[in-house]
Amino acid sequence: MPDLLVQIGGETLSLRSCHWVLFGPNDCAYGSEYGDGAVDAEQAHKNLRPYKRDRDRETKQGYRIELLSKTQWQDQAAACFYGTCTHQPLRRAAVTR
Ligand SMILES: [Zn+2]
Repeated sequence: MPDLLVQIGGETLSLRSCHWVLFGPNDCAYGSEYGDGAVDAEQAHKNLRPYKRDRDRETKQGYRIELLSKTQWQDQAAACFYGTCTHQPLRRAAVTR
């Protein structure tokens, strides 16, 4: 795939240098993949959640996919993957309902 350019916060970046991140309704990051793995949020969600029922459930619950620059990833998502973030964990009821 040719390297695509994207604009994030006024910066022009190579898609390859960015990350697609799956955020929960609590703003915690639950999944991440390299920018060049998908060309839009829908495709990125598909890569992270192969089953449509999982994607539909997450969308209904307020999960969202965002494209982040490397800097934004460090600021907004890194702590979630290192287990050091301060986001409220989702309650089990909210996850399974
Ligand atoms: Zn978090």
